[in-house]
Amino acid sequence: MKVTLFSSKPYDAQFLKACNPVFGHEMVFIENRLQLETAHLAEGSLAVCAFVNDVLDAPTLEKLAHGGTRFIAMRCAGYNNVDLTAADALGLQVARVPAYSPHAVAEHAIALFLCLNRHVHKAYNRVREGNFSIDGLIGHDVYRKTIGVIGTGSIGSIFARIMVGFGCEVLAHDLSPNPDCVAQGISYVDLDELLTRSHAISLHCPLTPQTHHLIDETSLARMRDGVFIINTSRGALIDTEAATDAIKSGKIGGLALDVYEEESPLFFEDRSVGIIQDDVFMRLTTFPNVLVTGHQAFFTHEAMENIAKTTLSNLSDFEAGRACPNVVKLD
Ligand code: NAD
Repeated sequence: MKVTLFSSKPYDAQFLKACNPVFGHEMVFIENRLQLETAHLAEGSLAVCAFVNDVLDAPTLEKLAHGGTRFIAMRCAGYNNVDLTAADALGLQVARVPAYSPHAVAEHAIALFLCLNRHVHKAYNRVREGNFSIDGLIGHDVYRKTIGVIGTGSIGSIFARIMVGFGCEVLAHDLSPNPDCVAQGISYVDLDELLTRSHAISLHCPLTPQTHHLIDETSLARMRDGVFIINTSRGALIDTEAATDAIKSGKIGGLALDVYEEESPLFFEDRSVGIIQDDVFMRLTTFPNVLVTGHQAFFTHEAMENIAKTTLSNLSDFEAGRACPNVVKLD
């Protein structure tokens, strides 16, 4: 089946091509993001494959449907960028890769947290410049600290388990408790208790209308002074301007981000020779206690292999008229 893959980088093509001989799809790789202006590039493709920052709003979906597309294979877990109501109305099926490596994302969240807490990012630069002073690099023991985990699905539950291994008290908040976490002795508490008691808070819930700006001026005011916040989920869980104010006041002691609410014009491209116009983002990067990676938490060999296999298998299910277990249903 012909499939047009948007936002595809050489590393995407590498893993997808390596898996494709078993599936035999005709893949057209396009570097451009999918949006209304680029949707015509998929004309004649029964399927389109998209990624986290592609724009699958109603007008774009209409254009795809008009060009003959019937199946959208998201090669990611989140699908907050797809207008599912519009897709349903147009008869477009949407599938995703629900769990390609929750370990990859949970481990990256831990890496960000530890790096920021112990100033590894600053020490790296100092030592390379022959500066062996440790002044200003003091951190905190993670052992016996209270760690809040919001969203304990595939990724959050692994993050929580790793933190238990560090000897932390883990507080969890979710719409429903995860039995694996309960078995680990992790306590489920209401959001306010988690916010007020945690030394560090890691976000692992999806972006929904209910979770948009979950971390805002009000929730920040409830937190401990010097709290660490880690976000590897979706950028808009945090009101970035409120977080900036909280960094300036000292309320936030460390902010580790793999995602940013306005990341789509920035991330996944080399912007180093241009002028970045986003003042909110540029202000964030001036703080010594903010660590940002460009949406790379998923990026391990194991995850890329699983993404490629599941995406191609979702496409084959659709082509063969089989029920695809990874189709996203309208609530
Ligand atoms: P999941 O569906 O397994 O778990 C999400 C959990 O959040 C569920 O247990 C759900 O009940 C809970 N939840 C939903 N609404 C909530 C709310 N209002 N308050 C508290 N909890 C709530 O998802 P997952 O695979 O663990 O992924 C979590 C998120 O991580 C995804 O939504 C995605 O946005 C993000 N993600 C990021 C990367 C990356 O590379 N940075 C990679 C994969 C996934």
